[in-house]
Amino acid sequence: MNPTRRDFFAAGAFALAAGPALQGASLTAKDVLERIQKNVGVPWRAETVDTIKSGSLDTPITGIATTMMATLDVCQRAAAAGRNFVITHEPTFYAHEDKTDAIKDDPVYRFKQEFLDKNKMVVFRFHDHWHAHQPDGIFTGMTEQLGWGKNVDPQNPRQFVFDGVSLSDLTGQIKAKLGVKAMRVVGDPKLPIRRVAANWGYAGGFRGFTRSNIDALIVGESREWEMVEYAADAITSGQKKALIILGHIPSEQGGMKYCADWLRTFIKEVPTEFIAAAEPFWTPGA
Ligand SMILES: [Zn+2]
Repeated sequence: MNPTRRDFFAAGAFALAAGPALQGASLTAKDVLERIQKNVGVPWRAETVDTIKSGSLDTPITGIATTMMATLDVCQRAAAAGRNFVITHEPTFYAHEDKTDAIKDDPVYRFKQEFLDKNKMVVFRFHDHWHAHQPDGIFTGMTEQLGWGKNVDPQNPRQFVFDGVSLSDLTGQIKAKLGVKAMRVVGDPKLPIRRVAANWGYAGGFRGFTRSNIDALIVGESREWEMVEYAADAITSGQKKALIILGHIPSEQGGMKYCADWLRTFIKEVPTEFIAAAEPFWTPGA
């Protein structure tokens, strides 16, 4: 063993011996939050849903899990893996603001809250600022997961260009890439697709569908009596267009996988992993 290697092993053994004790004492939920705020590249907003939803800021962190939605199932898997800091894109308690006063006696809420408390977990929502990050963290991750980097429209990073692939083939590729079981499509399966706009997550109203230069709009979810009815009427009236509904979780999940990669660039003391939220739907006969 040459001197360089011996030094390396000696240093490694020391780090190993000192590591766990230092880790436990050195990184709290507050530290993680401050590092996110420092690295996200945009000023932290005074009004935001990006707040701690459960647990306390002085909790020592043993590991971080990023997820699209902090379902009870995700929280249980995070706890089992020793990841007591959950970073979720969507709400924890069933409403955008995560207000719990009105549900404090609800059995499902209580079960989840008691599980989080018992396991000393911290849940932080990372929504507004991950979208505000340049470029938008969700868009980056979804583009990566779909392998659509080469299809990004140079005029508009929220649109993708294709060579006239049929709606049926394009949606088949999306289904395979994202592993979606229950996506839904409005439109002629043979429709040639050249330009697609993406509204990952929730699309309110129907304006997104009115854009004249697109053949298809992808959304996570939208109201059936707003966007979906408008799309059906647009098609009946003769427009050659399609609406692709992925379900909310698969439509943003790639963005939170990418979030784990991003966090690992500035949080080294504890492990960070992405935990996929399960698609909630299944389809009879499929
Ligand atoms: Zn989102």
